[in-house]
Amino acid sequence: MSQVNVADHRARRARLRERLGALDLDALLVTEPVNVRWCTGFTGSNGQLLLRATGEDLLITDARYDERAGAEAPDLPRALDRDPVGLAIRRMSPPFRVGFEAEHLTWQAGQRLRERVIDAGGAGVPTTGEVEELRTVKDEREIALLREACEITTSALGWLLDEQVQPGITEARLARLLEDRFLDLGAEGVAFDTIVASGPNAAIPHHAPSDRVLQRGDMLTIDCGARVGGYHADCTRTVGLGHVPDLLHDVHRLVQQAQAAGRSAAVAGATGGDVDAAARQVIDKAGFGQEFVHGTGHGVGLEIHEAPAVARRAAATLVAGMTLTVEPGVYLPGLGGVRIEDTVVVNADGPATPLTDLPRELRLL
Ligand code: ZN
Ligand code: ZN
Repeated sequence: MSQVNVADHRARRARLRERLGALDLDALLVTEPVNVRWCTGFTGSNGQLLLRATGEDLLITDARYDERAGAEAPDLPRALDRDPVGLAIRRMSPPFRVGFEAEHLTWQAGQRLRERVIDAGGAGVPTTGEVEELRTVKDEREIALLREACEITTSALGWLLDEQVQPGITEARLARLLEDRFLDLGAEGVAFDTIVASGPNAAIPHHAPSDRVLQRGDMLTIDCGARVGGYHADCTRTVGLGHVPDLLHDVHRLVQQAQAAGRSAAVAGATGGDVDAAARQVIDKAGFGQEFVHGTGHGVGLEIHEAPAVARRAAATLVAGMTLTVEPGVYLPGLGGVRIEDTVVVNADGPATPLTDLPRELRLL
């Protein structure tokens, strides 16, 4: 699949341009690199998009990225300028209103930008989450990339569980084998640092793989994801090595039920808070509410954690095409823990479709 999809990027900019009217802006200066990528396709570390109500958009970068910008965003006029704010101001005629991404500028840069815009006879308007909100709903090409990243992830994780997990191997070794497998299967990289947590370490939600050697009777939690075309997969499975304590057996069954409830609740029209509540209720009822120490999930796409939130009181309404994770967990300090996570896509009707489809029942290896 070609990474250059001019029509998709043009359609995204058209959606963002519609927002300019609502915000009474003549232009928006997009500076956050992931947002610039989503709007244009440009992946360099220095790029800004001046999106204008008139449609005369401009990609601003520097000489290092001239060639890449031409290849990745061939439809966009570009300018090489180390002072994108100055360039943007020169392109506008006063009085003008230019929006900026307030969350992604330092306080100092924001103050300076405002002063310069005022000096030029315009107004600088802080905006929040405009591109991020549009990014929550994925188009077909984005879903295809996420699907590919998720398929590589489950294929590699399935291989690891089938062929490599055994007493005597270390957490760190398993992480390296898994990440190499992602690359062998065509991933461009990892979505995030792989978590391999065995035995008591499985009680630590974000444990970094260590030199701990796996032993019989351990629970083992692996949280991992491949990255394809900039899109992140996210999947967790917890397995046992031989006979595991009855309590952890029961907790696994509980987390599996909570995860299924969360997935079933991830329907168009529900909120992220509803998904969280559906999963949390199952765990609360069984008396393990205090041991479920994080939110039920998060949006996932060009970033591993993005909107919409899937946590207590998260108010954003889910719509078809949103991609998010459902990942309840129960952590018992000193003993171990269980987390089960899938990346899912919200459908227009019915429950969400898991993109990471790998058996969820407790496997004893
Ligand atoms: Zn994860
Ligand atoms: Zn996650």
